[in-house]
Amino acid sequence: MRYDILVIGAGASGLLAAYSAAKSASDKGRDLRVCVLEKMPRPGRKIMITGKGRCNFTNMKDWNGFSAHVRSGSGFLRSAFYSLPPERLAAMFSSYGMESVVERGDRAYPASYRSSDVVDTLVNACHSVGVIIQTDAEVTSIEIAGQAGNDSSVILNEQRDVKNPSSFRVRMKDGSEHKCDRLIVATGGLTYPATGSTGDGLRWAGGLGHKVTPLFPSLTALVPKGYKLAPQQNGGGRTAGDFENAEHLCIMSELPSTAVAAAPLPHHIPRETPLTEFGQKLCGIQLKNVGARLLVQEMEAGNEFGDIDFTDGGIEGPIGFQLSRKAVKALVNGSRVALELDLKPGVSLTDLTTRVKELWEDISRDPRSARIKEKERCRILLGKLMPWDLIPAFTAAHPEIITLERRGRTDTKVWVNLVSIAKALKAWRFDIAGYVGWERAVITAGGVSLDDVIPKTLESRVVPGLYFCGEVLDIDADTGGYNLQLAFCTGCLAGSSAAGR
Ligand SMILES: Cc1cc2nc3c(=O)[nH]c(=O)nc-3n(C[C@H](O)[C@H](O)[C@H](O)COP(=O)(O)OP(=O)(O)OC[C@H]3O[C@@H](n4cnc5c(N)ncnc54)[C@H](O)[C@@H]3O)c2cc1C
Repeated sequence: MRYDILVIGAGASGLLAAYSAAKSASDKGRDLRVCVLEKMPRPGRKIMITGKGRCNFTNMKDWNGFSAHVRSGSGFLRSAFYSLPPERLAAMFSSYGMESVVERGDRAYPASYRSSDVVDTLVNACHSVGVIIQTDAEVTSIEIAGQAGNDSSVILNEQRDVKNPSSFRVRMKDGSEHKCDRLIVATGGLTYPATGSTGDGLRWAGGLGHKVTPLFPSLTALVPKGYKLAPQQNGGGRTAGDFENAEHLCIMSELPSTAVAAAPLPHHIPRETPLTEFGQKLCGIQLKNVGARLLVQEMEAGNEFGDIDFTDGGIEGPIGFQLSRKAVKALVNGSRVALELDLKPGVSLTDLTTRVKELWEDISRDPRSARIKEKERCRILLGKLMPWDLIPAFTAAHPEIITLERRGRTDTKVWVNLVSIAKALKAWRFDIAGYVGWERAVITAGGVSLDDVIPKTLESRVVPGLYFCGEVLDIDADTGGYNLQLAFCTGCLAGSSAAGR
């Protein structure tokens, strides 16, 4: 089949790109044949799992506020953002029947809190402007200018005349092929590969001569030392020193797509690795309003305040995720990483020490304490300072808070070290052994280099007529609706640019 515009990938960016291409053409009275090819049986598989099934589809901040949450590509993304700012995205959804609600932190959700409504709305919008969506349609290779191919996944014409491609040929897994004048790659990154995002677009981009910046998982669980059973490091016993810098990951983008996903990440600790006894003590605990300091080579590299969750993956939750990008990057680069939790961020160490001593005196004065052993008194004290279910892990991690003094062959005295308790509350240190990888990370950091893409159109500088949008690009942001907004607005710009070319 021949199309004017083909989009590969029916995720957030691909669906919006197809809609925007067909809509902007029809607004100008032109009739373009636009088709989306999706390898999964249904479009928008990843959207379905976003926001724990509720889909935090955008963040309503203006560009100044929004761009502060973009971790890679904020200067580049300005034009894309203004091509579909959050309020216009919400209005577009509303025009197709999906109302939204805005929660704390300017996070927008569908009013139904069902991510399926976002997918249905995007699909309806595409159909309303004549976009064809083909599912179970896996693209295996891209060819330029209709030259005969070989087995290579990205096939250039014989003269490598990528500067003037007349058209693209897209080969499908079932042996069929499609041709198009303009091609939009919206294949996403590498996270949650079961949703279809397996890095195919990164491989094609690399093969066509685009730089692909080092890839690493972001917004992912950090695994403290001693939290998971050994082996703590994957990849045949490699240690951080074996990977001196992240260039290693860049090379991965030139491998076949399965290899991109399967290549060992330094310090990757698979999600399913069983927990140790210490991990089991912490798993399931949620801490509210704590401070977290990220230390890279003992230097402060980040500082956040908010909520932390201990899960079967490791340390997650809003501030765990927030710090994970820098932490993973540092680990990949072979640096030592630690996270220091401050369970009492509103109080100084001096005041906290005084408070701990006062509480201890109160407990000791209480007549009910008379027959209670020191250790149990210590537990009562800790119960006044932290959630009860945190105490076993806290005491296991800080053996110094209780010391035994031998006073004879059988006589021992237990000392509760009140200053140590205060110190541990202010700076509970977790040395970080690794992180959960592509299997459960929220976002891929790195991707098609922004140097090779024109920011005002998202057209490739290397291959005219080829466009990139969404997570395949070297863009990523914090949690809070920012990443989907980036997928939608880059999709919008790529689609309208391709239609206008
Ligand atoms: C668990 C989880 C929760 C998240 N929650 C949020 C949230 O609440 N808010 C937020 O802003 N962001 C969230 N994100 C991030 C957000 O989902 C992504 O940023 C966004 O989906 C990226 O969109 P995309 O279109 O670029 O890529 P994707 O959504 O990955 O879509 C790419 C599509 O391309 C298809 N494809 C790939 N290769 C081929 C091929 N060879 N042939 C045909 N089709 C192909 C894939 O099957 C897929 O459907 C979450 C991510 C995860 C993993």
